[in-house]
Amino acid sequence: EYGVAPEDDSQARKWLAKHEGGFGHFIDGAMTKPGDLFEVRDPASDTVLARVTQGSASDVDAAVSAARRAQSGWAKLSGHQRAKHLYALARHIQQHSRLLAVLETLDSGKPIRESRDIDIPLVARHFYHHAGWAEILEDELPGHTAQGVCGQIIPWNFPLLMLAWKVAPALAAGNTVVLKPAEYTPLTALAFAEIAQECGIPKGVINIVTGDGETGAAIVGHEGIDKLAFTGSTDVGRILRERTAGSGKALTLELGGKSPFIVFEDADLDAAVEGVVDAIWFNQGQVCCAGSRILVAEAVAERFETLLRARMKTLRTGDPMDKSTDIGAIVHPSQLARIRDLVEKGASEGATLTQGSAPQGCYFPPTLVTDVEPASVLATEEIFGPVVTLTTFRTPSDAVALANNTRYGLAASIWSENVNLCLDIAGQVKAGIVWINSTNIFDAGAGFGGYRESGFGREGGREGMRAYLRNPAAATGNGKGTT
Ligand code: NAD
Repeated sequence: EYGVAPEDDSQARKWLAKHEGGFGHFIDGAMTKPGDLFEVRDPASDTVLARVTQGSASDVDAAVSAARRAQSGWAKLSGHQRAKHLYALARHIQQHSRLLAVLETLDSGKPIRESRDIDIPLVARHFYHHAGWAEILEDELPGHTAQGVCGQIIPWNFPLLMLAWKVAPALAAGNTVVLKPAEYTPLTALAFAEIAQECGIPKGVINIVTGDGETGAAIVGHEGIDKLAFTGSTDVGRILRERTAGSGKALTLELGGKSPFIVFEDADLDAAVEGVVDAIWFNQGQVCCAGSRILVAEAVAERFETLLRARMKTLRTGDPMDKSTDIGAIVHPSQLARIRDLVEKGASEGATLTQGSAPQGCYFPPTLVTDVEPASVLATEEIFGPVVTLTTFRTPSDAVALANNTRYGLAASIWSENVNLCLDIAGQVKAGIVWINSTNIFDAGAGFGGYRESGFGREGGREGMRAYLRNPAAATGNGKGTT
């Protein structure tokens, strides 16, 4: 049944073949010679795609020095000139969208339909949006200056999109960057480096250093970094907070989540079921703001569950390169093992599992968990897989209490035909983003970020721009503005 509609991967294969000798870093406008190499694998076929360099402290140092040399010149360009560069990046990303989408899917295991229709278009949109910001920055936020050199560390779940979220606002504001992609998924960042070269971005403005957590730690600890932006796990976020305390580095953290998906009695249940598909089965549930806890009104719980189980049966889990696949491969066998461990633990605590089907290999079936206690592992831990719990509630205030019963606070989704109820509940749920009758909607113009252990700071929109700027007037306390 699978392999019915495979995407054409010949261009991406050709690009990978061209780099068969291994990738270096992108520093000071050029690719360095490959160094100490590690393998990057396709989780779906368990084959080696490429070999990339493990960044050392001296690689990070070279990248930070290049970024420092480039920074004042980049910041001195007019906003209009910086905008032209960002527009060029956006246009080239669109021109290379097939290559980027296929590479993203091969590298991460996400369905091609998602990388082609969601990830890469949002990447281009992010650069267009921030080109606009560069144009209007002086008028909109007068007196603000760039932070300087930004260290940026990103995860594997949306590799190029997370790069765009970090690089586009930083550059618009006049900063230069040293970015480290996740070790599982560095390929689109390296393709992006080539695009930056092709567009004539001044050398040193964008630097990309590949490697694992050690390379990340070298960025975090480097004295030449003025601002750090991190997206990843809450555990590593905590380390960054400790390591940067008192260092004078500005810091924003986008961390984990355990977001509630609240379905009221009067909700359009068919729409809410489709919402669950987007909330937890998009990108195999490896989404920081995934709606991983369904809270459904007791009065409609049975009907909702019946509809949801029926919909689960129609989901296709399999080859990510097949255009008809809904759920692709898990990014890496170690992530698969983590999901399995958590689900087994949950089952041993008495939870009931309903699972769809999945092929052999690095796949996990869509999973619905019922009979789950609020304090149990599956209800509290971020699973980062296609696993959703279902709990019922009686009253709106019960729903709010359950929704807020978490150490996280990234997102929430509320389903009801009563807009007053939705708005009332939205104000009571502790989450950085609340979607009403929708879920997992992202826009470059809207700030995204969390409360509590989901991190702090916002990316996107005006707040996101501010995070890459300083306001010297506010810093001297003359009351002329805020940061
Ligand atoms: P991770 O924290 O293990 O890794 C993230 C990045 O940090 C990687 O590039 C990694 O190499 C690097 N890193 C690891 N140890 C480091 C250290 N000691 N110092 C510096 N850098 C280090 O997370 P992950 O497993 O790649 O990603 C999954 C997590 O990311 C999930 O918890 C998810 O919720 C979170 N996430 C959050 C958002 C958000 O916007 N809030 C978005 C996507 C993912």
